[in-house]
Amino acid sequence: MHVRTRIAVIGAGLGGLTVAGLLQRRGHQVTVHEQAPGFGRIGAGIILSANAVKVLRHLGIEAALLDTGICPAAFLSRDWVTGETSFALPLDAATEARFGAAFLNIHRADLHDILRAALAPGSLHLGHRLEDMRETPQGVALRFANGEALEADIVIGGDGIHSRLRALLFGEAPPRFTGRMAQRAIFPTARLGGLPVDDCTKWWGPDRHALSYFLTSRRDELYVMASVPGAHWDGTDLSRPLPRDAFLASFDQATPALRRLVEGATECAVWPICDRPRDDRWHQGRAVLLGDACHPVRPYMAAGGASAIEDAAALARCLHEFDDAAEAFHHYAATRIPRVAEVQRISLANTWMRGPEEALDWFFGHDAMAAPLAVPA
Ligand SMILES: Cc1cc2nc3c(=O)[nH]c(=O)nc-3n(C[C@H](O)[C@H](O)[C@H](O)COP(=O)(O)OP(=O)(O)OC[C@H]3O[C@@H](n4cnc5c(N)ncnc54)[C@H](O)[C@@H]3O)c2cc1C
Repeated sequence: MHVRTRIAVIGAGLGGLTVAGLLQRRGHQVTVHEQAPGFGRIGAGIILSANAVKVLRHLGIEAALLDTGICPAAFLSRDWVTGETSFALPLDAATEARFGAAFLNIHRADLHDILRAALAPGSLHLGHRLEDMRETPQGVALRFANGEALEADIVIGGDGIHSRLRALLFGEAPPRFTGRMAQRAIFPTARLGGLPVDDCTKWWGPDRHALSYFLTSRRDELYVMASVPGAHWDGTDLSRPLPRDAFLASFDQATPALRRLVEGATECAVWPICDRPRDDRWHQGRAVLLGDACHPVRPYMAAGGASAIEDAAALARCLHEFDDAAEAFHHYAATRIPRVAEVQRISLANTWMRGPEEALDWFFGHDAMAAPLAVPA
């Protein structure tokens, strides 16, 4: 292993922040370049399964995550119309021991704050939107929309589903709109007037589903995300406000328990759900991709973020172990692609944890920091 001095990460998302933090902790010099000028508190939560938490503990942030988010008592699958429970996974000490870490639900903004705080001071550069990249004899030359330029030995694209780095490497290919919308709302639990609410439930409907979960261990903030049919999405904006009535109307046919729960919503928003057909081109030359930049999935297994975090773990290990970047990238891709392909397949089918027949250990029990790295074919 030699310490790398010039690694540039594009995008301060879940994957980008994780890979940067892990590499920095091993002595490599990494800078992160994020297009946003700052971070707002967008209205969304995220489920961090045990496999993701096992990686994040290597950043020294597990306690902060546990303090800020909530370990739900159980994950429940319930029928949208009848309310009947088809599956329950207790998230107790036995489950934590089985999978090697707790499950966590958390506000995305809180997760980002904690991940950013784990970076080396001064290594995050906001307002840096990657525009162009070309290979040089020494490495890569990066150009940003703010006029700044940077030379690096390696560039890591953690720039999400609309990845500019991916387009520069393999050509423009806009994400595919799936004909589904994600409607989201976060609201104080106090608005429900004492209605009993389970910690984390997936509600399965005939043509739609929803997730409802608390975002804090005080159980004072609830998040509801519904995936509903939507014919088209015009324009390039990533999300839009949604009238409360339109949000409630999506639940017209729902069991009274769910209808009463969503009554608490105040401000709502809608996002288009997009993905991309599987594409196993994850690296070229001195550039490599991770997370949604190379494998965006429909959010039906709650595994896109966890997969980006696992990618970050495998990539950091490969870059640390192999001096040659190409060798590192080949090992990384060989390690990750078969596993991610399975996540993509299950996410598309939308079957994960609907009933008790699923095998859960291969996903939740995985430890991306310790699992053997695959040898490229
Ligand atoms: C409705 C919904 C619910 C979901 N729920 C879950 C869940 O419960 N659990 C889970 O694990 N996953 C979930 N996911 C998936 C998860 O959000 C994504 O898979 C995850 O955020 C991908 O992480 P990433 O680091 O690859 O990209 P992102 O987190 O999207 O980060 C990309 C970053 O790159 C920046 N960027 C983009 N372009 C540029 C550029 N040109 N230059 C510089 N910076 C740039 C962006 O501003 C952003 O900060 C959900 C997704 C959706 C849509």
